[in-house]
Amino acid sequence: MVHAGGRPVPSLINDNFERLDKVANSSGRYFWKCKHCGNLDNSPGAKIQGRDNSLPNHIIRHCKDAAPELRRKARTFIMNKTGDDGGQVISPAASSSSGGVIKKRKKISTLDGYVDYPLSDEQAKLANIKLLRFIIHANIPFRVGDDEYFREFIDVIRPSYKVPSRYVLSHHLLDGEAV
Ligand SMILES: [Zn+2]
Repeated sequence: MVHAGGRPVPSLINDNFERLDKVANSSGRYFWKCKHCGNLDNSPGAKIQGRDNSLPNHIIRHCKDAAPELRRKARTFIMNKTGDDGGQVISPAASSSSGGVIKKRKKISTLDGYVDYPLSDEQAKLANIKLLRFIIHANIPFRVGDDEYFREFIDVIRPSYKVPSRYVLSHHLLDGEAV
């Protein structure tokens, strides 16, 4: 594995770029050549200074020979870096050109990573009570608890919350709420 500045080089970089000479300053950066398009005439991939996301950005935006799958990998690569350091990595240019994808995936990873902690018993009880109040207040039949589309909705926003069945809603919860 090639090392630059003591840090291991990620495989996305190692597999797709060849390291050239060092940048002539104290940055510790290198120039890189794209293994896909670097030998073509006037290629933007012939010599790229390795800084920020210039290498994955080359694959995403400038490389003539990168396969769609590789572009996806490069987006994921930038996204994962973004998760590590609070969003400082994606340049405005990068997020505007492929922003839809990045934003969408970022949201999904946020849900998976942070929002959907399993509910504690207390929280599940509270959620059930809130649901029951909503159902009563909005005059929704108890069978909504068994409704496939309602369950799909809950699965999307918080998969770990289990919607109580009609039976549980109308018997146990209603009794509990009355008390
Ligand atoms: Zn290239």
